[in-house]
Formats: sequence, structure tokens, C-alpha cells
Amino acid sequence: MKIPASTELADAVLSGEVAFTHPRGREWDVPRICPLCQRRMVVKLNPFGWEAACSRHGVLRSEWLEK
Ligand SMILES: [Zn+2]
Repeated sequence: MKIPASTELADAVLSGEVAFTHPRGREWDVPRICPLCQRRMVVKLNPFGWEAACSRHGVLRSEWLEK
């Protein structure tokens, strides 16, 4: 899957415009559904956290949420 250079997802989440929907009772879990289009995202785990990519809206990294 080609990931677009879009920062739409990161912008929307970091501005508080949208929130990730985590599975109920598993708020610590990695978000797997894009909150903008409800598509399933490609999630990669790494030693520092995770990276989730929507094919339309770009990438979001967990480290961006911790700031
Ligand atoms: Zn999306």
C-alpha cells in the first residue's frame, strides 16, 4: 500500500478535531481504524510505540501524541 504524504490525519488528531476510537476498555491499545474515513489502517509497532497509516489520510505516530 502506498502511503500518501498527507498530514491530514495527524493534523486532525493533534488539533483535537477528531479522536481515535479505541476498542472499549482497551484505551491503551493501538488505534486501527482511521477516525476520518473509518478505513482500516496499517499499523506498525516499534520499540517506542506505534505508527498507523491510512491510505488516504497519512501517518500518525504515537510519539506525536505524547507531546
Ligand atoms: Zn483515513
